[in-house]
Amino acid sequence: MVQPFVFKFGGASVKDAPSFQNVANILKSRWKNGLVVVVSASGDTTDHLELIIEKAYAGTSFDGELAELETYHREICAALFPADHGIFTQVSNSFSQLKRKLGSDPKSEGKAFLYDQTIVFGELISTRILQEYLCLNGLFCVWQDARELIATDSTHKMGKVDWVLTMQRCRKYLSPKLENYPVITQGFMGSDWLGHTTTLGREGSDFTAAILAVSLGAKSVSIWKDVAGILNGDPDLFPDAVKFDHLDFEEAAEMTYFGAKVIHPKTIKPLAKQKIPLYVKSFVNPELPGTVIGSFEDHPKIPITVIKTKQIWITFRVRDLSKVGGFHYEEIFKAAKTFNWTVNLLQSSAVTVHLVIDQPEQMPNQFPKQLLETFHIHKTEGLQLVTVKNYDESHEATYRKTTEEVFLTEKSPSTLHMLVR
Ligand code: ASP
Ligand code: MG
Repeated sequence: MVQPFVFKFGGASVKDAPSFQNVANILKSRWKNGLVVVVSASGDTTDHLELIIEKAYAGTSFDGELAELETYHREICAALFPADHGIFTQVSNSFSQLKRKLGSDPKSEGKAFLYDQTIVFGELISTRILQEYLCLNGLFCVWQDARELIATDSTHKMGKVDWVLTMQRCRKYLSPKLENYPVITQGFMGSDWLGHTTTLGREGSDFTAAILAVSLGAKSVSIWKDVAGILNGDPDLFPDAVKFDHLDFEEAAEMTYFGAKVIHPKTIKPLAKQKIPLYVKSFVNPELPGTVIGSFEDHPKIPITVIKTKQIWITFRVRDLSKVGGFHYEEIFKAAKTFNWTVNLLQSSAVTVHLVIDQPEQMPNQFPKQLLETFHIHKTEGLQLVTVKNYDESHEATYRKTTEEVFLTEKSPSTLHMLVR
């Protein structure tokens, strides 16, 4: 039995013809049975499709945008394939199918449903191009529809994974293929019990790689990115940021929860549970070692800075000036649950509770009556939450010097949070 291993290539690594060639080169020297390659939609295709779906749903014309997207894919193909290759028909057929789906009474099942049935064409097409291109170059491989593997519930745009069913499907449909060929499949998508397409949330392809790795008992996952590995700060903001050679699962998970964008936040937990190492490698310099995330208990404590933008600070001041207690927290948590807020920081003083949350898709116009009766509520939008793990005294001082307003500060022995403008 071959031991599977999973590679994931994001949109930036398949954004044009030279990028596809680069991916093929990376794969060539690592080509063996057991390899599962998870691929995202080319470049900004998903963003463009989101726009097209909005228009389709609103009943306005999207023909121009759709034609542009088709041309973009055809041009990639024109640079990779001979003119009489079957890929051109495949791409045309995919676009005809997409157009049909976008035009078919889109309102009947709701917007999220329409979104899932159509947004996935980006991945369906990019994986076809890659698979055909690899085969054309003597790297024989199989195209696998990820919806036959990843089972989710019917929560459209944010499908919840059914791990047991997914594992059964992977063992049944994927494992036998991997004995004989590498497999190319799509990130981001799955299907529900009715067979309808679902998706895992934006940037969800990393998560797909982790789901497949766990389901197959893979040896490792490698995520190929345009950076050299995981750095201890955003290099655009911190020019002296250093790369980690290795990073513990726990620390990496925390970084993603604090807002680091290198890896999708849901990716690490399932891998950590199975102790499957995750390599973050550069597709620009594939020979460099990158960063490996694994079980490293005695790792050095290097400071890590992560900045989360689009934060909302909500203060709840108790109206009757009674001391904050269980009842007050209960009311606030109820609201957080109702509105599906992601809470990043909670702090309380005698009569006030502070909550820092991610900007939700929609902020309620009106808070529930009970909440308004209990608290004076005030919210401030457009803030940033700076988190420094393994901080020292210098970090706080630096931030106090560079920002005019620090609204909240919180420190545990290992972590410093500062809410700034
Ligand atoms: N193509 C999807 C997106 O851009 C999924 C992914 O790239 O991970 O969100
Ligand atoms: Mg993408």
